[in-house]
Amino acid sequence: MRVVSGCLCGINCKYNGANNRHEKFIKELRAGQLLPLCPEQLGGLPTPRSACEIVGGSGEDVLAGRARVINTAGEDVTECFIKGAQEFLAIIKQAGIDEAVLQRRSPSCGVGKIYDGSFSGHLVSGDGVTTALLKKHGIKVWNDEDYLQDKGEC
Ligand code: SF4
Repeated sequence: MRVVSGCLCGINCKYNGANNRHEKFIKELRAGQLLPLCPEQLGGLPTPRSACEIVGGSGEDVLAGRARVINTAGEDVTECFIKGAQEFLAIIKQAGIDEAVLQRRSPSCGVGKIYDGSFSGHLVSGDGVTTALLKKHGIKVWNDEDYLQDKGEC
């Protein structure tokens, strides 16, 4: 069993109320191999919601108090992102899950690359807040693209 970003399984949990559905994940979900979760919803944020980016660093920096998560309205939503990451981790620990497949570039789920905080589409190296917390706790984290490539899906 792996945990997966809910939006990859067709759940409309993205900031704009849409999803990132991919048939491979639907197939694995139906086979009982995936647990879909959305850390931003677990953190109490509404859907739809304003787009958010990490300003001043990566998810690891957010967890260390060196960076913040800000939305396009200029609101600081850092605490919701940290709470969502903690809830996400608590659920998967309860379920005995030690592997995750997460949506690339998200300020929560991003793996290896995230937007730079300028809301201009520029990417920088780093993980989202949930990914950073999972890695700290020894969870293996794939980004969705690498996972699909590994499975020969793209
Ligand atoms: S927080 Fe993660 S699961 Fe939720 S919509 Fe964003 S990328 Fe998908």
